[in-house]
Amino acid sequence: MFVTRFAPSPTGHLHRGHAFSALTAYEAARAAGGRFILRIEDIDVTRSRREFETSIYEDLAWLGIEWETPVRRQSEHVDDYQAAIAALTADHLTYRCFRTRKEIAQEAARAPHGAAEAFRGGPLPPEEEARRLAAGEPFAWRLSLDGAERALAGRPLSFVEEGAGPNGEHGIVTADPASSGDIVLARKDVGVAYHLAVVVDDALQGITHVIRGQDLYEASHVQRLLQALLDLPTPVYRHHRLLTGPDGKRFAKRDRAETLRDLRARGITPQQLRQEMGLD
Ligand code: GLU
Repeated sequence: MFVTRFAPSPTGHLHRGHAFSALTAYEAARAAGGRFILRIEDIDVTRSRREFETSIYEDLAWLGIEWETPVRRQSEHVDDYQAAIAALTADHLTYRCFRTRKEIAQEAARAPHGAAEAFRGGPLPPEEEARRLAAGEPFAWRLSLDGAERALAGRPLSFVEEGAGPNGEHGIVTADPASSGDIVLARKDVGVAYHLAVVVDDALQGITHVIRGQDLYEASHVQRLLQALLDLPTPVYRHHRLLTGPDGKRFAKRDRAETLRDLRARGITPQQLRQEMGLD
């Protein structure tokens, strides 16, 4: 059975880019006679708001999308994510990271390639770690790429891309998680982080096809690694093109893209929006 999902974060109102993603996934499920799941990715309690979640439901209903209930809210399942982190820790695949953002940025600036993203640290010497823990210093859990490489022992990882990556990647793709560095599994403030929660939920919800924008293509490489380390199945991926506005830039919350509720208030119909997005 084909099972896909749309997994927005309720940190703002949805815009055209979200509508395109949601409709692409929903229509793929319909075409395959499969299931469409809506998941609310609200682990970032500092930015998520119930008001935005309500507006997600209104916007999707307006677009003509139907989803299964109850909807899984990540904030209600932190135990599932912590169990996964504990399993990785038991396999010596994690370490505590006490560094601040500033320290990481400084280290990255000193690194020859200067890639802030590709942070690789490793644990502190045991005495220093014990001292900082005793002092109550906050820490994040990170995935150790060194540990992961040892665990995989040269076994290559791949996934099936049925859409296209940003450089036209398609078909069987070899996963390259190293370029993301030692990713954070649990943030200092909220106890879990994006990749871990997504991988656990995709498996728990039996997602067979992850359909989402190309902006998350790199994430798939990291998520493929987590699936291997947690012994979870790998869905098929379909990354879709990103919608761009008249200025050629993709729609993004941070640029205050016009929201679906603004469009609705302007009297735009879902049919007009579909045409504009090239869906009809
Ligand atoms: N929650 C993520 C976002 O809003 C999407 C996660 C995913 O599709 O894997 O960008």
